Amino acid sequence: MLADLLFPPVCVACRRLLRGPQALPLCSLCRPEQQPLPPAQRHVGGVEAVHAYHGPLARAVAALKYEGQLELAGPLGRLLAAADLLHRDWDALIPVPLHPWRALLRGYNQAALLARWALPAGHRLRPRLLRRVRATAPQTGQDAAARRRNLEGAFAAGPAVAGLRLLVLDDVTTTGATLAACITALRAAGAREAAGLALLRSLA
Ligand SMILES: [Zn+2]
Repeated sequence: MLADLLFPPVCVACRRLLRGPQALPLCSLCRPEQQPLPPAQRHVGGVEAVHAYHGPLARAVAALKYEGQLELAGPLGRLLAAADLLHRDWDALIPVPLHPWRALLRGYNQAALLARWALPAGHRLRPRLLRRVRATAPQTGQDAAARRRNLEGAFAAGPAVAGLRLLVLDDVTTTGATLAACITALRAAGAREAAGLALLRSLA
């Protein structure tokens, strides 16, 4: 395919060329470094995660998020498609919204880029159904209870979500607090069903 010539599959961690598209876009050197997320750790706070925030995939997500390496959104977004949860009968998928100031500074929302590449055929992406109405302090180093408090009232949804089944997507989760706050806001606005899915889970 032409797309394979223009955008040959590369290892998302070190950019070595891969022999062909692979389920896990890591080369033979980086792959052993990636630890699987133990099944018991895949669910946290009512949300699901696909891989561990560790090694090569953690570096790739950081490069997408903080270094503007937007070409990583494709291979990383497609990794989300491995989650069964993504393929249920959702009315819409929603990336976790950034606060407008942060979106302006960064220029893009990494969760929205991942969601676009993860979108299964026949599903819709509707980012405007959920808004971040309050900026929140960085959550690194906070425990689960502090994270929940930090996020109270941070998200809001309008009457457009009433009766809908919605899946919220994020790049990284730790305690599930951000996705849980999104789910709470969607349910409060009348969503019939709301769930959360993150690409990586940090166990730190
Ligand atoms: Zn590699």
